[in-house]
Parts: sequence; C-alpha cells; structure tokens
Amino acid sequence: MDSAKLARALETRGEPKYRLGQILEAVYKKGAASYADIKTLPAPLREALEPAAPIQSLKERRVLISKDGRARKAALGLADGLAIETVLLKPKPGDAWTVCISVQAGCAVGCTFCATGLMGLKRDLTPEEIVDQVLFWIQYMRRESVPGRLTNVVYMGMGEPFHCYEKVAESLKALTDPARIGLAQRHVAVSTSGLAPGIERFADDFPQVGLALSLHAANDELRSKLVPVNKAYPLERLAKSLRLYLEKTNRRVFLEYVLLSGENDRPVHADELAGFVRRVGKPHLIHVNLIVWNPTDTEHAASPAIAARDFKARLEDAGLSVTIRKNLGQDIQGACGQLIQTD
Ligand code: SAH
Ligand code: SF4
Repeated sequence: MDSAKLARALETRGEPKYRLGQILEAVYKKGAASYADIKTLPAPLREALEPAAPIQSLKERRVLISKDGRARKAALGLADGLAIETVLLKPKPGDAWTVCISVQAGCAVGCTFCATGLMGLKRDLTPEEIVDQVLFWIQYMRRESVPGRLTNVVYMGMGEPFHCYEKVAESLKALTDPARIGLAQRHVAVSTSGLAPGIERFADDFPQVGLALSLHAANDELRSKLVPVNKAYPLERLAKSLRLYLEKTNRRVFLEYVLLSGENDRPVHADELAGFVRRVGKPHLIHVNLIVWNPTDTEHAASPAIAARDFKARLEDAGLSVTIRKNLGQDIQGACGQLIQTD
C-alpha cells in the first residue's frame, strides 16, 4: 500500500483527518486485506478507495510450505508481469516469525553460487513493493491462522539492497514507522554483497538497523571471482567502510560466508578471514556466520560437514565468534540464494 497515495485520495475526497490513521491501523495492525474488510468505513468510501489506493500491490501466485513447517515461500506477481519470491521463516522454536524480503527482481551482482544472480537484473522494486511483501505475510498469517507473531524482517531475498539505496531507505522507514508496520529497528537487518559507499551511508542513516556483509572470501582474487562487485570495492575498501560503520554505530556486524567445497573452505581461507577481521579491528563486534551452501544450478558444491566444523574451529582458535547457520526451506527452494522468478 502506498500510504502517501492513500493520504492524497482521502484529502481529495475531503475526508476527516482521523481516516488515514484508522485505515493504516486496520491494514498494518489488523491485516485487513481489502477495504471491504474495514467495516468502520462508510460503504461509498470503501468502494472509492479500492481503485484509488489499493491495499496490496502484489498478487499471490503460489505458497509452498516446507516439510518441517518452519519455512513458507511465496511467489508474488508484480503489476508488470514480473515475479519475486519472499520467505516466512521460524529460525528458533517459539512463536516469532521472520520475513525475508526481496528488493529487486533479479540481481546485477552475479555471484556465481546464487540462483538470483544467474537471472541478471530485471528491475528494482518500488518501496511499496518491498513493504507489501511483509504486508502479504501479515495478511497470510491472519487468513491461514498461522500461530505466532511476525517480529523480524531481513533484507536477504532477491537483489542487492545498496544498488537501490533510496528505495530500500524508504521501505525501512515504513517498516519501522509505528503508524505503519512498526517493527523495532533492531529487529530489522539488511544484507549487502559489499557496496562500500552504501555501508557508509547506512551507518549514518540507520545506525539501529542490523547489517550483514556477504564476504565469502577474504582474498581479493578469490572474492572477485565469487562476488564480482569486489572488483569495484576490494577488501581494503570494505575494511575501511566496516571500520567507519563500527565506529559510528557500535553495533555488531555479521559476516556471511558460504562454504564452497574446495574453493573457500581450506585452512588458509580461515586464516585469511581471521586476518581480515583483525584488520577491520573491534573483533568483539564482528560475528561470522558460516552458511551451508544451498544447491543451485551452478558448478559449486557444499563443503562437507567435517570441513565446515574444522573451518569453524580454526576461526574460533583465532578468537572469532562464529556460528554455522542452519538453512531452512531447502526443500521448497526457499533457502538463501535459491530465490528466482518462477512462472
Ligand atoms: N544480495 C544480498 C542479500 C541477499 S542474499 C547479499 O548478497 O548479501 C542472502 C545471503 O545468501 C547472502 O549472504 C548470499 O551470499 C547468500 N547466498 C547466495 N546464494 C547462496 C546459496 N546458494 N547458498 C547459501 N547461501 C547463499
Ligand atoms: Fe545478488 Fe546477493 Fe545473489 Fe550476490 S548473493 S547475486 S548480491 S542476491
């Protein structure tokens, strides 16, 4: 929903001021999926608003549910016929759900191990389309009576957030605005493949929102192969922007590291990663997330579990804080790096 458009539509009709808040509350807090659902509005107003300021800009095409019930993936159609995917996840037992959202249809970065990267970039999403993915899950949970609460949002779906910084910034404002989705800033996180200027801007604009950096290799030759944007912003540049980020925010940064068998999972790579963290400084504010690679139609292979454990142990011996992230939603192609446009 475009709340500015809604505000204009209400003003044009000469509606009283409280209407806007009334509608935002019904849509974002109560999950009303259509104006017809908002019975407190006069019928003529409901009918007028449906075409003037639609509540949902995305059309559900399909929802898949993982066998363990902890991941659901939705394919959503955009007005121009493109489609994106978004995932509802339960990372821990309990009643808190996390939504993983996309910022672009496709992605221009072209990481060699990622299914989205293989698609290339179709287009950026509008701020409305970014936020409406969260709105979709609010509506879905209500409709399907999914127990629990939607508490966290991660920008870890399709696309590179800092390739469309302004749109992402506007969407972050909507997600954290108490009158709209109203999430705590600390319950939102953005993941970037390493656009250094974006990291610096983000530190200024959103010091309370979480940041993850997809590193995947800590030597320039290998990283430039896996994450081509490294040619524009090599490791020294990244280290500098992380230093700035940590100084300004004093918040913990997550380094994401997908373990690829025989490529970046040897002891020497762990040592390079530990060296990178030392160069950035403030190691107590850096947490390494080792990610098990999710199969995509590419030449890579996941590291065996034993290699992952050894890699983790070597980082820990070097004093780093490390976890191996368990992937949810692999069976519905809904895990990290598996999101694509489906027909
Ligand atoms: N484009 C942003 C955010 C989305 S990707 C970024 O790259 O940071 C979310 C995470 O999944 C990133 O760390 C990404 O590198 C990782 N990823 C990509 N493909 C993957 C795959 N096949 N298996 C596991 N993780 C993958
Ligand atoms: Fe784009 Fe992220 Fe996939 Fe790289 S990993 S291609 S940046 S979506």
